[in-house]
Amino acid sequence: MPTCNECRSFFPLDENPDKGDCVQRVVDPRQGYYRAKPVTADQDSSKCSSFQKKSRAVSGNA
Ligand code: SF4
Repeated sequence: MPTCNECRSFFPLDENPDKGDCVQRVVDPRQGYYRAKPVTADQDSSKCSSFQKKSRAVSGNA
């Protein structure tokens, strides 16, 4: 099962990587902006139409 943790839009919290924000770019006719909502890393993303798999796992050393 794919999870939010594997999604490009998932940004884990520094203090608790099990939780994070789902940040998506939204474009409407007048403007583009980012919308964030809280999600958990293990949330099922199989039904999420916005899921995009990360190209590779992000490790701690950026
Ligand atoms: S809710 Fe959907 S778009 Fe957001 S992080 Fe999870 S899978 Fe990705």
